[in-house]
Amino acid sequence: MSTYRERAHRQTARATVLSAIATRERRSHLSAPRVPTVGIDIGGTKVMAGVVDADGTVLERVRTETPDKSKSPKVVEDTIAELVLDLSDRHDVHAVGIGAAGWVDADQSRVLFAPHLAWRNEPLRDALAARLVVPILVDNDANTAAWGEWRFGAGRGAEHLVMITLGTGIGGAILEGGRVKRGAYGVAGEFGHMQVVPGGHRCACGNRGCWEQYSSGNALVREARELAAADSPVAHHILDRVGGEVAEITGPLITDLAREGDPMCVELLQDMGRWLGVGIANLAAALDPARFVVGGGVSDADDLLIEPAREAFRRHLTGRGYRPEAEIVRAELGTDAGMVGAADLARLVARRFRRANRRRAERAHRGAAFELRLPPRGRAARP
Ligand SMILES: [Zn+2]
Repeated sequence: MSTYRERAHRQTARATVLSAIATRERRSHLSAPRVPTVGIDIGGTKVMAGVVDADGTVLERVRTETPDKSKSPKVVEDTIAELVLDLSDRHDVHAVGIGAAGWVDADQSRVLFAPHLAWRNEPLRDALAARLVVPILVDNDANTAAWGEWRFGAGRGAEHLVMITLGTGIGGAILEGGRVKRGAYGVAGEFGHMQVVPGGHRCACGNRGCWEQYSSGNALVREARELAAADSPVAHHILDRVGGEVAEITGPLITDLAREGDPMCVELLQDMGRWLGVGIANLAAALDPARFVVGGGVSDADDLLIEPAREAFRRHLTGRGYRPEAEIVRAELGTDAGMVGAADLARLVARRFRRANRRRAERAHRGAAFELRLPPRGRAARP
């Protein structure tokens, strides 16, 4: 059994190593070229592209619809290429970063699977690199959003950060010592499919009781529609708003009504916040970050959701009272996070590309100098 002093020593040593890694990462950012890059966020419904400068400012943005799932991967590539070429007309683009709603492999070259697109083991990076003459970076959209928040938003200064994106489902990302933790195969951070209710609601992933069945835009809408379809008296207000059409009930409408003080909508968001806190407590048990950043469309509900999440987190945190508690904060970059983060990550690739180009140019230069010293051909063989 180790003494307190030994443990403290080990902890200090570990903290020193982590802070050295973080410093190196920060330095690597300081030395990354301060050139504008393009970030692209490919979501389930929209593709958003923007030119982003080295301070995270979006200089221009364009957006279009996500091609339907039935369309071939080539159509999605065409969409991305068109957006980049459009922006290149007005900006000097040095690299392109893509945050895609899907599983990206550990090499960050292939999209293994994307629920909203036809990508199945798609070599996206190389396919785009062949069409666009700039370096390309591909990552999962939650990873790029977490990176954006860590660099320019609510995650600044947190060396141990977990991002939770609440959209139709739950996405997530882990940042430690200024690095995105991708896992052995690239698919770490799929928090939405942790089981929180054995035998609970069916999930599209094939299991039951997944976290995102209780805390996501889809969960919120499902609960509201169930109450409305049952003609519950608590749902009369929302039913009036949609003219009796249960299918017209959406997440943003529920959030709006909750803000107006509608009791049913407030309660639904509180329930969702409580489940959010339970899941976050589970994540704290496994990962022990200093800060959780909650982003994604549903986080617009702000304190209607985050405050119940904080309360539930405190109630469910393992070892509560005997450990420092992580902060739970709302993301700051809104829907830009994924795009800004992808552009910033691409800046690092731009640097590697520049170095490789410089080395290639130097080699070519040396080769040329060597050739100049050679005697003219034909006379070399003579003694
Ligand atoms: Zn699931």
